[in-house]
Amino acid sequence: MSRIAYVNGRYLPARSATVHIEDRGYQFSDGVYEVCEVRGGAIVDQQRHMARLERSLAELRIRMPMSAGALAVVMRECVRRNRVREGIIYLQITRGVARRDHAFPPTATVPSVVVTARGLDFAGNERTAAEGIAVVTVPDNRWERVDIKSISLLPNVLAKQAAREQGAKEAWFVDSDGQVTEGSSSNAWIVTKDGKVVTRPADRGILRGITRTVLLDVIKAQGLELEERAFTAEEAYGAREAFVTSASQIVMPVVRIDDRPVGNGAPGLVATTLRAEFHRHAELS
Ligand code: PLP
Repeated sequence: MSRIAYVNGRYLPARSATVHIEDRGYQFSDGVYEVCEVRGGAIVDQQRHMARLERSLAELRIRMPMSAGALAVVMRECVRRNRVREGIIYLQITRGVARRDHAFPPTATVPSVVVTARGLDFAGNERTAAEGIAVVTVPDNRWERVDIKSISLLPNVLAKQAAREQGAKEAWFVDSDGQVTEGSSSNAWIVTKDGKVVTRPADRGILRGITRTVLLDVIKAQGLELEERAFTAEEAYGAREAFVTSASQIVMPVVRIDDRPVGNGAPGLVATTLRAEFHRHAELS
């Protein structure tokens, strides 16, 4: 079955779906994106993702090219046409097509919209979660507006590649104060020796992950103690557990950081429980 992509009003076979060479996303990374999990054919936490999308667009002064309702219909249609049961949906909006000039194009320029959906290896992800993943730390060399889910991801690309080349699945960015900010495509968490769940506050230096937001509810419901504060790589090395969160991985246990085992080197009870409980708290649509 050929994959179907939505591009500016049309559903097309992915191999013949194209964008203009002067799309500002292509030339300047001038756009934003969202990734939602698809589970049992339903979109997980779509409303929260839409709210974050609208915020990212507003911060960059890109107008919403269609109503949130119309976009929701397109997303559902992409899931349906691609017959995705367990997977992800990717949505990207750029400032549109215009003759190359750094400053904003004429106000009549129509933002470009691309939506794709694809299945993920559900059983494979579960196996990975049962083993846990390794992460490495890298200096955080990103711009200050990482709270915007912008398609400008070069530092994240380089960080993820550095991780891969060291046999790890994720890279954790560390700021100039030695504090972990977040992963290259995930939020970072630890569990202290006395059982407190720690993650960096979402006011500065990280993307406010939707999985992170939902997990705060799960943590509360589980009666776990939460500390929203920054932590250093050294504190993470000595933590009882560590894990990352993102829409595509949900809660993924971390068992090695910079080649040091975390806890006993196996996925911990807190991470495993939070992973199992997550979907009782997420919204399906
Ligand atoms: N931080 C970064 C840099 C990300 O790219 C992502 C997801 O792609 C996240 C955090 C997690 O966000 P969410 O839970 O909304 O997927």
